[in-house]
Amino acid sequence: MPIRRETRRLYPIDWPLISKHIRFEVAGPHGAGRCWKCGRPHGQELRVLPDGRWFDVELHTWRDARGKEAAWPDMVDACRMRKTRVILAACHRDHDPPNVKPKNLAAWCQRCRTLNDREHHRRQFRLTILQRRAMGDLFEGSYRRYHYFGSFCVR
Ligand SMILES: [Zn+2]
Repeated sequence: MPIRRETRRLYPIDWPLISKHIRFEVAGPHGAGRCWKCGRPHGQELRVLPDGRWFDVELHTWRDARGKEAAWPDMVDACRMRKTRVILAACHRDHDPPNVKPKNLAAWCQRCRTLNDREHHRRQFRLTILQRRAMGDLFEGSYRRYHYFGSFCVR
């Protein structure tokens, strides 16, 4: 996942080297170059199911969201199967970019990262909405001009 422009200055200058080291040189529970949670290998296009199972081409078996051997999908599951390319990212467990201590970093695939960061993104989304409303109060008058549809703010 690309680094957002507003948080780029928070990362150390050698972040690309640190990221590469974590993703491809440090052996996680499933080995180097694999997601530390589910074991999906970087760069491969895999068959995946909505419940997190994925097909391990090397061992010719299905694995669950924790990388353990799982049951093969039935016909209903197989209809919801899709292909995805796995991209590993070096992630901060505490969502704090300057904290690059080895214990705080992990190599996760996009699925595991999304699941791990869900609550953090919810909090950030709420802050963004509150910030927009405050800007409306300060500079544009009432925020009645903002229309809320579901959880999205549309001007
Ligand atoms: Zn994963």
